[in-house]
Amino acid sequence: MPLPKAELHLHIEGTLEPELAFALAARNGVELPYADTDAIRAAYDFDDLQSFLNLYYELMAVLRTERDFADLADAYLARAAAQGVRHAEVFFDPQAHLARGVSMETVVEGLWRALGESETRHGVSTRLIMCFLRDESAESAMDTLMAAKPYLDRITGVGLDSAEVGHPPVKFREVYETAAALGLRRVAHAGEEGPPEYVTEALDVLGVERVDHGLRCLEDPALVARLVRDRIPLTVCPLSNVRLRAVPDLAAHPLPAMLDAGLLCTVNSDDPAYFGGYVDDNFRALNLPEERQRELARNSFLASFLEDDEEKRARYLAEVDAYAW
Ligand SMILES: [Zn+2]
Repeated sequence: MPLPKAELHLHIEGTLEPELAFALAARNGVELPYADTDAIRAAYDFDDLQSFLNLYYELMAVLRTERDFADLADAYLARAAAQGVRHAEVFFDPQAHLARGVSMETVVEGLWRALGESETRHGVSTRLIMCFLRDESAESAMDTLMAAKPYLDRITGVGLDSAEVGHPPVKFREVYETAAALGLRRVAHAGEEGPPEYVTEALDVLGVERVDHGLRCLEDPALVARLVRDRIPLTVCPLSNVRLRAVPDLAAHPLPAMLDAGLLCTVNSDDPAYFGGYVDDNFRALNLPEERQRELARNSFLASFLEDDEEKRARYLAEVDAYAW
């Protein structure tokens, strides 16, 4: 059994494997512009974040019904469980579906069918985090938040994802203020391709409790000191960073240096179907000493939104401490 861990940076749409994409395409009568699964995998040769996003949005067209979203989430949870995941905080991108005429109800209820049963089926507790697409307007994000209001018993928090550069966090100030007033937790992607200033802005303007990626904080020592002091978690995604060329290769990945600096880092898979591995694959790819891996696993539970179930968090942490390789 792999090391027990939480996954905190995972886009459910990014777990769509080519085999499931073709199965759902057949079920829904959707024509995919690829001959077979190999042709999709051949398209995984990305130059940057945008080239990945183009394929990511294209393949989403196969997701139409509640059952599709449930099958997608259940397939992820089964894989995650096999990789030692005990708790998953799952992102979804409602705007990408609403734009295709798929309703918020279909998306949330479909995902919830799998997430709500995950603890009994897979031994994985879950939370759902709704992300806004930062390259869409703030008005669209606000409309999306309002559309989600009937489902807030299913949704723990909000996030911000998609193309980062040119879309600073400040654009979503009002949306995040409203989300906070609705009692939602707040995270945001920042400092992946965007500058360290976006990380600072996500903290100051959006009030985020966790930063997704955050790698470029390293360019600003004062920001690193602040993240360390305030114990702000960073959800790092090593294989994603290599695939999207944020770092040249795994040997050059700054995660060990980030841990040495005292940052509360976690390891996650981001969009595992596209980036060559699920979360334990990311752990193994880094080839870190065992006690470093244990530290990362502890961090994942410390950084998770389990404040409503501290007993569970304590149980997970005890599992990490007791783990023997
Ligand atoms: Zn991401």
